[in-house]
Amino acid sequence: MRLSSLFTSKTPVSSAILAIAVFTLSATAQDRTTEQGEAQITDPNQECIGYSYAPMAALAGKFPAVWQPATIVSNDTDAQAKYQSIQSQIPNIQPKGTQPASLGGDFSGFTPTYPSSDPDCWWTYDQCTTPKLAGLPPDLTAVPEPDTLGYGFDDGPNCSHNAFYDYLVEKNQKATMFYIGSNVMNWPLEAQRALADGHEICVHTWSHRYMTSLTNDEVFAEFYYSMSTHVMKAIKMIVGVTPTCWRPPNGDVDDRVRAIAHALGLRTIIWTYDSNDWREGTADITAADIDANYETLITRQQNGTFATEGVIMLTHELNNFTMSEAMKFYDQLKATFKYIVPMGVAANQTQPYVETGYSLPSFDQYINNTTTVSGGASPTAGSAGATGSGTTSSGSATGSSSKGAAQKASFDGLGMLAAGATFVGVALKLLA
Ligand SMILES: [Zn+2]
Repeated sequence: MRLSSLFTSKTPVSSAILAIAVFTLSATAQDRTTEQGEAQITDPNQECIGYSYAPMAALAGKFPAVWQPATIVSNDTDAQAKYQSIQSQIPNIQPKGTQPASLGGDFSGFTPTYPSSDPDCWWTYDQCTTPKLAGLPPDLTAVPEPDTLGYGFDDGPNCSHNAFYDYLVEKNQKATMFYIGSNVMNWPLEAQRALADGHEICVHTWSHRYMTSLTNDEVFAEFYYSMSTHVMKAIKMIVGVTPTCWRPPNGDVDDRVRAIAHALGLRTIIWTYDSNDWREGTADITAADIDANYETLITRQQNGTFATEGVIMLTHELNNFTMSEAMKFYDQLKATFKYIVPMGVAANQTQPYVETGYSLPSFDQYINNTTTVSGGASPTAGSAGATGSGTTSSGSATGSSSKGAAQKASFDGLGMLAAGATFVGVALKLLA
């Protein structure tokens, strides 16, 4: 509306402004080769039109198919060597359930035989977060600082996240972004933006499957190709850093999966409170229900529930609803909680990546307004080759985050299977 009124303006000044505005819009809209250019696109539909990022070409054939359970790529001797090197750290725990149903969380045939003592510390079974296998650190489920909200978003990078990320910049608010490797492959410039904006990046696996249902080598590959301690893999290659933290899709983790994550330098992060924002539009869940979930968290903070230990809320960068909901409630959360910080900041994990060139502020620094210590994007993908990585789909998996029993996980899994099927076509198109 504003533009059309300018078009009808007769004043030279307005015409000049219009000319500049149109030029700027068209120039930025066409710059889809850099993080900065991509970040300036404001039309969500434009943002989600696939693009070709030249450095991705060198990655052709070096990654598993996107949105399919990862396996070690043939002839990837680095991956094979790394996998062999961690064998002694993997406990003899069998994959849970039977694929392919178990990939979507259908453990119905398995749970009746699983011991009620929960020997594997299987979160999906009993929400266990303190491993029973010696040598594994407990999952991070809450933040140590009182009255503090550990702020993070799963399932990104979402292609249309610019408005949300712009909002976070405006608020000088950093968050922890749990990125899916397949989304990073499809939206590399969006992934780079998280680092440029000073957010903390953690791994959310390659294909967003129920991790306990995967075989050892699949679990390894789901991590390895989403990050790597040694070689160029998705987040490392595209964003330039190697994460040290991860969150299991749907919370589905046991000591076998934890052990493989731990061997690769990844700490497991769960959550204390589930916004269930991803459920909006499923079954009879409405936006008002999600509003109520946010409001309940606010009420609990007001009631002193988090007076001795802060809370981690599960929220998503899954779609425009989940992101708009985060913006809708940000000011209220900010007014209610004493502090809102990324997980790494809350845990005083000032070196969030393997690379030492990037630092997060300590908790004390952050709350005294030093929200960035060092950072800024320095993508290392420049030496790569040139295949189009773009797709015309957002590639967002259905983020299921049920904090419940296997029975509920099975229900959530149906959505995941559908999402997985949706992206098979994309994967074939990309990797053919
Ligand atoms: Zn997820």
